[in-house]
Amino acid sequence: MLESIKELQSSLRDLSVRLLVFHADPLLVFQTLHSQCKIETVYSMEETGLDITYRRDRALQVYFKSAGIKWREYQSNGVQRGRRHRATWTSDWHQYMDQPQQHPDWSQWRSYSSPLLSELALPPADLSVRADHVFQVGGESVAQERMAGFLRREIHQYQRHISKPLTSREYCSRLSPYLAWGCLSIRQVYQALEHEPSRKLSRSERAFGSRLRWHCHFIQKFEMECSMEFRSYNRGYRKLAYNTNETQLQAWKDGNTGYPLVDATMRCVQETGYINFRMRAMLVSFLCNHLWMDWRLGVEHLGALFLDFEPGIHYPQFQMQAGITGINTIRVYNPIKQALDHDPDASFITRWIPELRGLPAPFAREPWRMTQIDQQFAGFQLGRDYPHRIIDIEETGRRARQILWDMQSDPEVIQDSRRILRTLTNPVRNNL
Ligand SMILES: Cc1cc2nc3c(=O)[nH]c(=O)nc-3n(C[C@H](O)[C@H](O)[C@H](O)COP(=O)(O)OP(=O)(O)OC[C@H]3O[C@@H](n4cnc5c(N)ncnc54)[C@H](O)[C@@H]3O)c2cc1C
Repeated sequence: MLESIKELQSSLRDLSVRLLVFHADPLLVFQTLHSQCKIETVYSMEETGLDITYRRDRALQVYFKSAGIKWREYQSNGVQRGRRHRATWTSDWHQYMDQPQQHPDWSQWRSYSSPLLSELALPPADLSVRADHVFQVGGESVAQERMAGFLRREIHQYQRHISKPLTSREYCSRLSPYLAWGCLSIRQVYQALEHEPSRKLSRSERAFGSRLRWHCHFIQKFEMECSMEFRSYNRGYRKLAYNTNETQLQAWKDGNTGYPLVDATMRCVQETGYINFRMRAMLVSFLCNHLWMDWRLGVEHLGALFLDFEPGIHYPQFQMQAGITGINTIRVYNPIKQALDHDPDASFITRWIPELRGLPAPFAREPWRMTQIDQQFAGFQLGRDYPHRIIDIEETGRRARQILWDMQSDPEVIQDSRRILRTLTNPVRNNL
């Protein structure tokens, strides 16, 4: 965020526009600014955020009204406020994406003379960024560069690598943080992909294009039912009782479950803020299916680690991967099979779990298979160098599947699934 703001600040400075940045209670900021230089109108995007940002907006709305300030909010990424159902949503979305991009004429802002920061009774924000971080760099220019490069090169191999934890880092677009923080809009990416309407898109290009729509589809869901931040959105699942074993939860959070692919994934996210879709789904499945924990125990932990945290995608995806929506296929991920399929030579695992380096790939994927002699030869001791498995996934997977399948015939689940299909999904696709 800071890198993005700094870049915006410097590009606006080139146009002689000053960007004031505050890190303070927004109500206080607006009150102070208004008292010192009368504000006529506030312009913003319509944010589909968390309860905390919703409450902020409500407080600002009350203040703006009392102070006679107009507030103009603009639709963001084709997500529509106040919708009650999804009929025509897809065609509306395409129509929105086909509209021309805005290119504001900043020259008209030049004459505006803003007060000096020092004249305002507000502390300026600290914009210093840690130089040693390993996250993707923020800002519009790097986002534009990545988009152009991806659409020119990596997209052609996109589908081949999308599920691989290691190579997806190069062959997926990695645009999610830029989309989440507003360095790029979905419309910009959509139009860059579809820049020649007569050209037939390849399978990989179409797969990527669909995901741009999914981005907005999920946010639309959350916009229409934001209580899913706090509760399972299918009411039928709210009665389930869960395991509350603190030690197991901590092992999941720390990347110490004894399942190498799960642990490598968590450690990778902790370090870099990014992992591909399949591994995110596996992390959730491990927590909610294998450890049988309430999704709310992990949703904030992962959200806080993701550089691309987008509430409108994160919450519905988390519940979907936990298998508690009643409308999606139940998928209990087996981390051993995932490792065999998507990291057969254990290169991702050993990249993030140095303790397992030097072991042959089959043992790095399943260290518990090593006999005492194997361990001696490898100079490795299970339980000392790397934890024992905290659960047996054969058993936990069977139990989770059984409960989740049984829940599919629960009358309350069925009834609420109908409501969800009617209101939150595309009626054409679901034959409604
Ligand atoms: C539990 C869980 C939590 C998630 N949380 C987030 C989140 O907070 N923010 C976020 O942007 N994505 C989230 N995703 C979706 C997906 O994993 C990421 O969008 C994707 O991995 C980002 O990498 P990329 O930009 O290289 O994606 P690409 O594969 O290059 O896709 C391009 C863009 O399409 C969108 N997209 C891709 N896959 C999905 C999807 N399955 N659902 C919705 N949109 C998608 C993203 O905007 C992405 O940047 C989550 C998935 C799961 C399973």
